[in-house]
Amino acid sequence: MVSKGDRAVVVGSGPNGLAAAVTLARAGVPVTVLEAHDTIGGGTRTAETAMPGVLHDVCSAIHPMAFASEFFRRFRLAEKVEFAVPEASYGHPLDGAPAAMAYRDLDRTAAELGRDGAAYRRFFRPLLHRLEGVLDFALGGSMLRVPRDPLAAAAMGLRTLEQGSPAWNLRFREEAAPAMISGVAAHSIGAMPALSTGAVGLVLSAAGHAAGWPVPIGGSQRIAQALADDVLAHGGRIETGVRVGDVRELSDFAVKVFDTSARDLARIAAPELPAEYVRRLRRFRPGDAAAKVDLVLDGPIPWADPRLARTPTVHLGGTRAQIAFAENEVRRGRHPDRPYVLLAQPDEFDPTRNPEGLHAVWSYTHVPNGSTLDIRERVIAQIERFAPCVRDRIIAVNVVTASALGQYNPNYLGGDIAAGGVRLSQLLARPTLSHAPWKTPTPGLYLASSSTPPGPGVHGLSGWHAAKLALSEVFGVRAEDVDLS
Ligand SMILES: Cc1cc2nc3c(=O)[nH]c(=O)nc-3n(C[C@H](O)[C@H](O)[C@H](O)COP(=O)(O)OP(=O)(O)OC[C@H]3O[C@@H](n4cnc5c(N)ncnc54)[C@H](O)[C@@H]3O)c2cc1C
Repeated sequence: MVSKGDRAVVVGSGPNGLAAAVTLARAGVPVTVLEAHDTIGGGTRTAETAMPGVLHDVCSAIHPMAFASEFFRRFRLAEKVEFAVPEASYGHPLDGAPAAMAYRDLDRTAAELGRDGAAYRRFFRPLLHRLEGVLDFALGGSMLRVPRDPLAAAAMGLRTLEQGSPAWNLRFREEAAPAMISGVAAHSIGAMPALSTGAVGLVLSAAGHAAGWPVPIGGSQRIAQALADDVLAHGGRIETGVRVGDVRELSDFAVKVFDTSARDLARIAAPELPAEYVRRLRRFRPGDAAAKVDLVLDGPIPWADPRLARTPTVHLGGTRAQIAFAENEVRRGRHPDRPYVLLAQPDEFDPTRNPEGLHAVWSYTHVPNGSTLDIRERVIAQIERFAPCVRDRIIAVNVVTASALGQYNPNYLGGDIAAGGVRLSQLLARPTLSHAPWKTPTPGLYLASSSTPPGPGVHGLSGWHAAKLALSEVFGVRAEDVDLS
């Protein structure tokens, strides 16, 4: 039972911190969220970044996990935030050929993939048949646990081995299908082919062919707001403008949940953590980085293939070989001339966001960690490659270098938006090898950020897992008994 004196603090109000706070508050634990920034939300903020009156998502824009995350399902996020769920989850333009389109319907997607349609369908069908098991395997907890659905795990494992190895092209004969898979895999920022990027690509692709990649009406901030409203409605408190620099500032609290990077946990909580654990946290390495380019256009993007206007997300970079080359250049510490670009045009699906006639284009590309390069020219050139004359429509630009992204949010050290590189060793040991990696050796102290499983993305799962451990270990509350809906 939770007694009156037992209090919890959550450091950081990203989606994971807020998910932890929701879970604790709903169990009756008095919880306080402390956020360094002057607004809540971490990677789910929306602001006028490029032009007054025009909203851009500052970090996340597209939410494949909004319907796939078990935490968000239990929280009934889809009833608390309105989402647009376009039929086409994402598109992938190719030079001199029709764009590949990924629909929420696998058969329709395959039907447009020419000679590779049947192979693409055969590849994804088993994952979609056992989607719950696939999601549980990929998102459900530590990678060390026994999968709930071994057949789903086997289907996922075999396909990851294929798409994460030099055998990745064996089943395909044309450019579109493999380009589309690599365009999704590249979200995770890493070597290609590799098991880590391969696995992430499959889970996100499967979500795209099932429930879709939703866009929150009003922007990503709505997700943070829904979580924060729930914390407040259940007696919690949220203080912004408070940066926690030393765990000893939190001595009033029985439970401390950190939505910080593993490295920052090592720095802030060192006085209360065993030295060996601190050393292991310090060995958890940042990955390559993102650099952001927000545009305002005075008309929609003039895509060469107009079907691309029907999807909120477009992957730019060309063929699989071209994307892999660009991503591997970043791994080698170089800025590719023709980088992979992740582009979102959310206000095409959300007329509430911006004044009529103005179009917010959100994009980011991958660069070496700590990069200070203004990447706008290369990003705009990649958009122009598939949308000639787009340049004429640009009326405002805002660039955030990787280094500036790290200053904006300490979790994104040097622009590493995953709070720890997504490579196989760091997926298995995130941040340390453990059945319960959210737990530190110090009683009452937990890590809840995307430095823990299942890793980056707006899903709230890391926070939920950390809070469930705190509930059972410190308060003797069975997390399953806590109603999150
Ligand atoms: C440019 C960009 C694009 C992205 N696009 C997508 C996308 O489209 N879809 C998607 O699912 N994900 C996307 N992501 C990733 C996603 O935003 C993150 O994985 C997610 O926000 C991580 O959540 P979190 O709660 O772990 O941490 P964060 O969201 O990073 O929040 C951490 C919070 O803790 C605060 N904090 C840190 N240290 C302290 C301290 N010492 N004291 C007080 N407060 C502190 C920070 O200010 C921050 O508010 C993107 C990220 C970026 C940067």
